[in-house]
Amino acid sequence: MKISEVQTKKTSKPLEKAFKTALREVTEIEVIDVMIRLENGDTGNGSAASTWQITGESLPSIHAAIDGPIKDVILNRDIEELEDILTKVEKNCIGNTSAKAAVDIALHDAYCKLFGVPLHQYLGGGSVFPETDMTIGLDRPEIMQKDAKERVGQGFNVLKIKVGNDEQMDISRIEKIREVVGEEATLRLDANQGWDRKQAVQIIRHLEKKRGIELVEQPVPAHDFEGLKYIRERVDIPIMADESLFSPFDAFRLIKMEAVDLLNIKLMKSGGIRRARQIADTAQSAGIECMIGSMMESSVSVAAAAHLAYAHCNITYYDLDAVLWLKEQPEKGGITWHGATAELSNKPGLGFT
Ligand code: MG
Repeated sequence: MKISEVQTKKTSKPLEKAFKTALREVTEIEVIDVMIRLENGDTGNGSAASTWQITGESLPSIHAAIDGPIKDVILNRDIEELEDILTKVEKNCIGNTSAKAAVDIALHDAYCKLFGVPLHQYLGGGSVFPETDMTIGLDRPEIMQKDAKERVGQGFNVLKIKVGNDEQMDISRIEKIREVVGEEATLRLDANQGWDRKQAVQIIRHLEKKRGIELVEQPVPAHDFEGLKYIRERVDIPIMADESLFSPFDAFRLIKMEAVDLLNIKLMKSGGIRRARQIADTAQSAGIECMIGSMMESSVSVAAAAHLAYAHCNITYYDLDAVLWLKEQPEKGGITWHGATAELSNKPGLGFT
């Protein structure tokens, strides 16, 4: 079935409150939506968020990549040749991982609709719906303490605490949050590249003496694989790569160097579902478990990530709270949220109608 049309459109939706990390502050989810139409009228949908500080892509650059080199290699192709189309997309355009992710998601959606299967079934099927963590954005310790208490009250048992801009304040953030959430809540930390390697070791070792932290994500700058290894060799808390990991090749290098304990996969970094699966498979072969995460993305790409996570047995950590930050919840379809749990639709593709 030939791909007859590729359309892009910019949309934006406001957040209930600003989302802050050591890298950036976001007040709305702005994305480029992609729609692929097959000649029988079936459509597939995808979406890409722009993160200048992480992938280097802007909304205009995402639009230009899709409308130019990517469209060139998908128009008039048979969707049944999905694997080859995705390889052409990969090769015809270097970088631009978010633009590729949007198209990869739309192609998977259209392909699954043509064959009448939900995306998660196409990917292997799942048994336990993903339960997301909830992010506590970077702020003054008292404010983060209040947020954390509120979130646990709403039923989020796993909190991802943003740190990474001030050593003493970071420690105070964790201590204050632990005071109010008790021992039941799981805390994971994300420094978003905000520490240097020695500082990271000091902070993590200090926290180790007190109460359990499940993992620490991306303590040092993205390029510093040696720094991740340096930290991992000196602390007990598992270290996870996020901004250091884009491609399956990054995964291979991080694993070979024994630089990390865990990997955080995001479709916007990997370039979509196919590459994300390759990362999860590569990690599985080395005994390294993965998280599925997302940027501040739309319900379409978060649903794609949730389908993949549900179906892949080596994706065991979930950070998919982006859509829960929206002021208004999107129209039904894809994911139905039950508190922190993402129930996936059994309709074909991503499940949106
Ligand atoms: Mg992160």
